[in-house]
Amino acid sequence: MTTAAAEIRYLHESHPQGTETYQIAPGILWARLPLPFRLNHVNVWLLRDADGWTIIDTGADTADARAVWEALFTGPLADARVNRLVATHGHTDHVGLSGWLTERAGDVPFVSTLGEWMSAQVRIWDAQSKSATDGAQRFLTAHGCDDDTLASYRADRERTHALLGPLPITLTRLRDGDTIRFGERDWEVIVAGGHAIEHASFWCAEDRILIAGDQILSRISPMIGVFPAMPEADPLADYLASLPRFKALPADALVLPSHGLPFYGLHARADQLARHHELRLDDLGRLMDRPRVAMELARGLFARAVAEGQGRLALAETLAHANYLVGRGRAVRTKAPDGRILYGRAEEPDSELMAAH
Ligand SMILES: [Zn+2]
Repeated sequence: MTTAAAEIRYLHESHPQGTETYQIAPGILWARLPLPFRLNHVNVWLLRDADGWTIIDTGADTADARAVWEALFTGPLADARVNRLVATHGHTDHVGLSGWLTERAGDVPFVSTLGEWMSAQVRIWDAQSKSATDGAQRFLTAHGCDDDTLASYRADRERTHALLGPLPITLTRLRDGDTIRFGERDWEVIVAGGHAIEHASFWCAEDRILIAGDQILSRISPMIGVFPAMPEADPLADYLASLPRFKALPADALVLPSHGLPFYGLHARADQLARHHELRLDDLGRLMDRPRVAMELARGLFARAVAEGQGRLALAETLAHANYLVGRGRAVRTKAPDGRILYGRAEEPDSELMAAH
């Protein structure tokens, strides 16, 4: 039997170190920026236009990341001006330096979807807002978080605030299905939900290259989470709905993900990611032997992550799976008299009653 993993093949077994770049295809350079998280790096792409460069994604706002950019500006980017900065999505590791970089490059256009530009602005506001902080604490308490998780949440907000610099104040807006030209290639914009509100991937049909962003990653599964601002959201439905769009692309596409190594095996990887979530959903259904708070379910579903201090992210992923089950009628969400929110398996239809009809 061929395992799906055998169908994933990496373009390089290594990655650029420090300020190095690797050429992925003619006119496409890969650089890798350090991140101060467990996920310790993010990939950025430099594409040579006829008369300059297009940059895709920025890294978080840290002194180390700025130093790598300064080296790139005096290295590979030194031969021509920068024409634009494109963002796949508005998470801190992708746009943390966007305001700084567009300025540093000479006041160049910032290109992203509206949803991502706005949601990043909201996140900056959110980190400073007392009412948002209080609301988030109520959300976490209702889902059964302990004091440690509440404390790590507060620390996380402060950290996000520091790593997500100001966004560019003007936007060149991308929409799903647009064709955008950069790096002397035409790219179809594929806007998808799940990991972010309006995440953009870029598909070059002529050279069969997919700049995937975080929508399809090679080894890790993209974070699919429910957060305090949208407690009843069902991002997993959006994410799973996006996978067939990627499977409709040719199987031999070269995939450039924002984390990990560029790879071949898009169809196999999309199948693995769908399967990964199906298994989590089945596990979660089994854990709902009686109504339980989501944090308790998270300890069952993501025991290691919780033990390693990633309880808040485990909760967000658990809620995404729980809300998906609720949306499909496989689970019910109820509020206990003490305000806690409980998730339980939906009642099986009464078979005798059904038979009587
Ligand atoms: Zn990312």
